[in-house]
This record gives sequence, C-alpha cells and structure tokens, in this order.
Amino acid sequence: MKKLTLLGSTGSIGVNVLALVSRFPEQFRIVALAAGSNVALLKTQIETYQPAVVAVIDEKAAINLKSLLAPMPRTEILYGPEGYETLAAHADSDLVVSAIVGAAGLKPTVAAIAAGKDIALANKETLVMGGALVMKLARDRGVRIMPVDSEHSAIFQCLAGNDSDHVRKIILTASGGPFLRLKQSGLKKVTAVEAMKHPNWSMGKKITIDSASLMNKGLEVIEARWLFDIEIDRIEVLIHPQSIVHSLVEFNDGAIMAQLGVPDMKIPIAYALSYPKRLREAGAALNAADLARLDFSQPDLKRFPNLALAYHAGRAGGTMPAVLNAVNEVAVQEFLAGRIGFMDIPAIIESALASHNSFAPTTIHEIIAADNWGRVKAAELVEKYKKGGNII
Ligand code: NAD
Ligand code: MG
Repeated sequence: MKKLTLLGSTGSIGVNVLALVSRFPEQFRIVALAAGSNVALLKTQIETYQPAVVAVIDEKAAINLKSLLAPMPRTEILYGPEGYETLAAHADSDLVVSAIVGAAGLKPTVAAIAAGKDIALANKETLVMGGALVMKLARDRGVRIMPVDSEHSAIFQCLAGNDSDHVRKIILTASGGPFLRLKQSGLKKVTAVEAMKHPNWSMGKKITIDSASLMNKGLEVIEARWLFDIEIDRIEVLIHPQSIVHSLVEFNDGAIMAQLGVPDMKIPIAYALSYPKRLREAGAALNAADLARLDFSQPDLKRFPNLALAYHAGRAGGTMPAVLNAVNEVAVQEFLAGRIGFMDIPAIIESALASHNSFAPTTIHEIIAADNWGRVKAAELVEKYKKGGNII
C-alpha cells in the first residue's frame, strides 16, 4: 500500500490520479489533497478519499470549504503557500504527486523533496524553473523523481535497464497542436477558443495553449535536460501528429527505442505511481494492427518561435528558463482573456528574455525573484502590445 499526497487534485492530472486510486484501492491510499479554489470538487474528493489533511489557495477558500463539509470533518484544512508546503511534507505519505499547474508548483514540490518524499512529477515548471537546484536536492535527499509527462515517461521506460552513458540523443515527439498546418498570417488571428481545441489530448487550459504554441514542447526539452541529465543540444523535437510514439531514445550503437501508446495519461500516471512495477490494465492498449501510418517531421521554428526561445533559454541556463516560464504564464493568461494575439506570446517572451541578465541561482528564493521579475516585465510588455505600440 502506497500512501499518496496529491498536489493539484482538482485538475486534469489530479482527477486522473484519483480515478486510478479508485481502481486500485489495495495499492494506493490518499493521505493529503491540495487544490486551488475549486472547493466544490474538493469537497466530493474529501468525502470519497477521506484524506487526513487538505490545502486550498487562501483563507476565503478554506472557510468556504469548511462550510460545505459536514460538521466536525475529520480532515484538517490548511491554506495559502505555507499550507501547501506543510501538506507537501506530510509525514504520513510515501509519494507526492506534483500536479499543480505553473510556477505555483515549485515550492510545494521542493518542500516534498526536502522532506525526503519520492515524487511523481507532472508539474514540469518545477524543473524548468529550478532544474539544477531541484535535482541536486533530490540527489542529496535520496529522492526518486518519476516523470508523469507522457514524453518523459516514454524516455524513462526506454532507458530502463540501459546505461545512460550509451545514450546518443533523446527525441521528444510533439503533436504540433491544432495549428500545425496554419500559415503565419493565420496564426496571428487565432482565438483562444480555437487554441483550446487540441486534436489528440484533453488537458488543463494552460498546457493546451502551450501545446498550440509549442511552448509545451520547449518546456519539456528543459524538463528532459534535468530529468535525464543530458545536454540541451542532445535533445531533439519531432512533430508526430498521431501522438502514438510518445518519445524515442537513440543509443550510441545506432539502436532507437520508442514507447508507443494511445494518447491518454492513464498509463504514464500509473507507471509513475507504481514504478518499478506495472499495474495490470492501467490503460487501453494500442492495437498495432490499427496503425495505418506514423508521420514524423521537423518543427517549423519560424511559425512556432516559442520552441526556439525555449532552446535559447535552456542553453543560457541560470535564471533564464524561470523568466521564460513566468513571462509565458502571464502571456498565456492575457491571450486566454482575449487581450493579446497568439503571436504576441512569443514576441513578448523574446523581448523579456533579451532584457534579462541571467545568473546562476543558488537558492529557490532567487528563482522566485527571477520569476517575479519576469512577471513584472511581462505585464509591462503586455500593456505595450495591447496599445499597439512598438517594442524596442
Ligand atoms: P489543470 O489546470 O487542469 O489543474 C491544475 C491544478 O492545480 C488544479 O487542481 C488547480 O486547482 C491547481 N492550481 C492552479 N493554480 C494553483 C495555485 N496558484 N496554487 C495551488 N494550486 C493551484 O492542469 P493540468 O492539465 O492537470 O496540469 C497540471 C500539471 O501537469 C501542469 O504542470 C502540466 O504541464 C502538467 N501536465 C499535464 C498533462 C495533462 O494531460 N493535463 C500532461 C503532462 C503534464
Ligand atoms: Mg507532455
């Protein structure tokens, strides 16, 4: 029986994790749940899984949640940043599933690692922002980080039993999103509603927009760099519209290993939670006889500059990836709100990166400071774009 803490329980990944826990009650038990502000869903999750402790975004949400629960609930309610960190380090859990979206996931994940908890990592932003420090902390604490992201799960599976010295390169696949074949002029006019229509995957809002702009793949390149301790320039991206081959590893003898499956997070989540074991029928198996074709092509960095910007930030290192991530989060929100255009996202990120003096952070605090700098810069740039002014 593994005891789980789940950060981000009301999200797309969180709900999938809980469905898996319900299917395998003899394998997993929930001890702690953290969510943002969706207290209605959290209430039903508390009733079903009876965690010892939960955390929500702020005091208002905590009061709200308390009023929804039956009198004298057996669940302790925490809130705010300290609440998330206390919950993430909860003594009773064996594994922390990190599935909060965005930079907000960094500190609770770090708190869990500092407390010696193994991590099932969905929150890729943790490694994008703080890869060097986070991986060092994990090594120092003897913590294992199992990837949930489907591409990284694929690589993790391909690497099993192989010496990492024999890896020549890693190839991440990307569906290309809903705008794969749209021209530059068309990309300028796309709406948030169009960008939310991912062809293969059903996910949270932010990652869906990141998938349409290829920023998601850029963040995944940086995530892979840290997870697998491999230089950025040995990580390649290929567009694969069918999303069947989840990623590939090329070894130095010329052999290539790939992991295939239907586009569904069930199997990657199950593997992260049960590693090194596999859960019987965790997800639907792919019928290889149905595979009519598998296409692969190079990404177009002109139409999708976010991928090139992420490589740039990844190569620069230091605080640059944290700034890339922060500016992207702000720009995505502004795009979702209809205040800036789709192609303004990379333009704003490029401007912000150009004016950032990157340095090697030695503390999480310095990473958060770089994130804050990025958000202030992004807000300034958004104002100029909204007014249609020129960026220098
Ligand atoms: P989501 O938006 O569906 O859910 C996010 C969760 O985080 C929710 O529970 C929400 O309440 C919580 N949250 C949001 N803001 C918060 C804050 N400021 N503080 C605390 N909690 C907050 O997102 P998702 O699609 O489930 O993605 C979660 C993470 O997993 C992301 O980092 C994403 O990149 C990664 N991921 C998701 C998928 C997928 O299929 N959805 C696949 C691979 C990786
Ligand atoms: Mg992914």
